[in-house]
Amino acid sequence: MIAEVYPIKRLPRSMHAFDYKIPNEIQVVRGDLVEVPFRGSTLFGIVRLVKDRPERGIKIKELIAKGSIQLREEELSFFEWMAFDLAQSCSSVLHMSLPLPPKRGDTSYTPTVGTGSVTLPRSEADVLTRMIHSVKDRRELFLQIPDLKRMTATLAAYCATEPDEKVLVIVPTVQAAKAVYDCLSFLDPIVFTADQTNNERYRRWIAFRKRKSGVMVGTRIAALLPHHDLTTIFVLQSGDANHKQSDRNPRYDTRYLLWELHNRIHSNLFFLDVSPRLEDLSWFADLERRVWSRSHPASIVDLNTERRESEHPLFSQTLQRIVGETLEEQKQVLCVLNRKGTAARLFCQDCSFRFPCTTCSTGMAVRDQMLHCPRCLDSRPLPSKCPECKGVNLIELGIGIDGLCTVLKALFPSATVQSLSKDIDLKTVSEAQILVATQSYLDQMKPIQTEPLGLIALIDADQTLYIQDTRSIEETIRAFEQWRGVALNTGARFVVQTHEPELFSTILGDPEALLSREWESCRDYGLPPFRRWVRISRKEEEVRKLEVVFHQLQKELATIPTVRSRKPELVNGGMQFFCSVEPEHAETLLSFFTDLPDHYIIDTNVFP
Ligand SMILES: [Zn+2]
Ligand SMILES: [Zn+2]
Repeated sequence: MIAEVYPIKRLPRSMHAFDYKIPNEIQVVRGDLVEVPFRGSTLFGIVRLVKDRPERGIKIKELIAKGSIQLREEELSFFEWMAFDLAQSCSSVLHMSLPLPPKRGDTSYTPTVGTGSVTLPRSEADVLTRMIHSVKDRRELFLQIPDLKRMTATLAAYCATEPDEKVLVIVPTVQAAKAVYDCLSFLDPIVFTADQTNNERYRRWIAFRKRKSGVMVGTRIAALLPHHDLTTIFVLQSGDANHKQSDRNPRYDTRYLLWELHNRIHSNLFFLDVSPRLEDLSWFADLERRVWSRSHPASIVDLNTERRESEHPLFSQTLQRIVGETLEEQKQVLCVLNRKGTAARLFCQDCSFRFPCTTCSTGMAVRDQMLHCPRCLDSRPLPSKCPECKGVNLIELGIGIDGLCTVLKALFPSATVQSLSKDIDLKTVSEAQILVATQSYLDQMKPIQTEPLGLIALIDADQTLYIQDTRSIEETIRAFEQWRGVALNTGARFVVQTHEPELFSTILGDPEALLSREWESCRDYGLPPFRRWVRISRKEEEVRKLEVVFHQLQKELATIPTVRSRKPELVNGGMQFFCSVEPEHAETLLSFFTDLPDHYIIDTNVFP
């Protein structure tokens, strides 16, 4: 008998299973973990199939031993599907996913039951009860919850009411996994993260596999484990970019894989976040979305009406007054900019005209003396006059961290102003009266922030509207809601400065209306989730050579129904291009990739 085996090793995408002769004393079936000789060493592998075929001409090697694990049919077929969908070999996917038995040593896992828990203000107890009640008997739900603390409370309440369930919880970062563990430790959850060693992960996986019920909390790597008996999957902060692995192979999106997995193993799937992504709108129908029924008040400051009285066009008198009041109350102020650096846009100081794109009305960003549309990629030269009022007082609006610190020091000379960079001493943070931070500070803050703050001010909330390669509305709502959640949790006032007050009033009142507008525009421009987008890149010094091979590749791609390719562009040390396909033809495109050599790096699920 012959066994076809996937060696557990990083192998090119065109490599499939290898034949091994099964010795008489060993019996194996599909899914068995085995040890095989491979290119001069011994590797673990998974049996793909056993076939009854006599040996011909070439002598094939023998299996060495059978391991103690067997993957079930639904687990192995999920890995095979994943390999196809990610344009990787099954060997590489198994290599990334499976912790392997330690060579020697203890394989037992010692549980550590703690006493941690999570408490919410009494006023929100009924909100939580309603949330849990609405989850009952639903298979798929998107739960809109203001912050990680309340998400964890919802999770804890769910697990407490469903003690027989086997639950997988995926969070975006190791830090968040730790925070969630601390709140759930009374349930003895098993933590599974990429910073653990193979042996540690192996012990934890086997321990969880043996349990009939219980909770595993992990980062995206935990989603790759073989799972067949989960009853419920939770994805916390489901819109976080960390749920996608985009910097190395296999490039995968946890949310997309889990959506497929829950259909295959018939488990519940619940996404929890401060606001939905467009994918969530397509995955979860209206009836499958629930909103935490208590939100924190927000004040919207209209920068258009205040510009004449203010010292800086991005620091209103209203905000100046509120900062002053907060300092008088001896409370800390946190001023937030969405991104590092400045995403400048053109602005008429006389009539507030904002130079929207003439094709699609999106706000345009200033770069290299040109106006660029982040959505339809249109561009035009920088005008010298305002088309509305013919005025010439045009400025590039935008402020960076340093600029904002200077403005604050001038306005509040007696207050201490501290900008928060990556390696900041936490002591100076707790002592400063005014803190200045970017969006990335959210990741550094303790995931469940408890120190009180007096005020959180989004200085330039429109910034995300002008950034290329994003869904600007979705990102703007998400940033707004994340900081509103921090404000709720720290008891801070929440103030938002904008030139688009109507937009932010709609975010407060009817965000779904905005999202459906964005949804329609994604449909009009053939963006995800309406078409599947793929990025193909290749590193190579010689640009001429790349131009030739990419031209040839695009010609071949053009023969696949509905495939459209964008012009290749130069990137660090190589070239890349995006192509897209209608979902019903995605399989044809993915089959085309299975034979493409490995120097093409393929990300099969991107937002262009
Ligand atoms: Zn004007
Ligand atoms: Zn445009």
